[in-house]
Amino acid sequence: MIEARSLTKRYGSKTAVDDLTFSVQPGVVTGFLGPNGAGKSTTMRMAIGLDRPTKGKITVNGRAYRDFSAPLCEVGVLLEAKAVHTGRSAYKHLLAVAQTQGIPRRRVDEVLGLVGLSDVAGKRVGGFSLGMGQRLGIASAMLGDPGVLILDEPVNGLDPEGIRWIRTLLQTLAAEGRTIFVSSHLMSEMALTATHLIVVGRGRLIANTSVEDFIRSA
Ligand code: ADP
Ligand code: ADP
Repeated sequence: MIEARSLTKRYGSKTAVDDLTFSVQPGVVTGFLGPNGAGKSTTMRMAIGLDRPTKGKITVNGRAYRDFSAPLCEVGVLLEAKAVHTGRSAYKHLLAVAQTQGIPRRRVDEVLGLVGLSDVAGKRVGGFSLGMGQRLGIASAMLGDPGVLILDEPVNGLDPEGIRWIRTLLQTLAAEGRTIFVSSHLMSEMALTATHLIVVGRGRLIANTSVEDFIRSA
């Protein structure tokens, strides 16, 4: 579970996140919806300890992360537009990540299968499409078998098939009881991916409701 309480972040005179209070429950995909600049990335960065709140707090499974350099098997993270440019194969890329976290080698095969990249495990990551790159990012986030997944704009720029793939994967992972918190600036996308919605604008909470109710009230 992820919980924000009066979470606030200011950069100088600019308020990026403004008194947000919400929780993200396990078992369903929760969408984090808002236009660009609404404060989604800043909120996610604070959840994983990459940024510090000015006021309030955000916890993941009851803990506020101050130091993201420590291995965090409990939380899988995919930050926006972090394409991997490497001549390594997908397998070796994941193996390198696994080794820094003390995760056994067999888990690499498992996550490759999970995201449907087993067939291209030996291919250069540099030659991957955007959609394959995002799946590799999710595979990397899943290495520690985390109970919580935080994904910033994972379908941005993907083709419809790539989007469908990630959507199905997230719903499967949520159905296993994980907490899935996924941001997007596209309502059309969130309507098909998420069950619950946290909607923000200019750093403020606009709605915290089921997708169904949000669409009905729109
Ligand atoms: P979103 O992810 O919803 O697009 P962000 O969290 O990236 O929104 O940004 C929220 C606001 O905070 C924007 O106005 C952005 O310009 C500002 N902001 C984000 N990070 C910084 C930073 N490091 N320094 C100054 N302003 C920032
Ligand atoms: P290098 O020769 O550059 O060290 P390798 O191809 O030998 O790279 O890969 C290093 C390790 O990863 C080896 O143990 C190899 O068996 C394993 N490995 C590489 N590609 C795959 C793959 N597609 N599936 C399973 N294991 C792989």
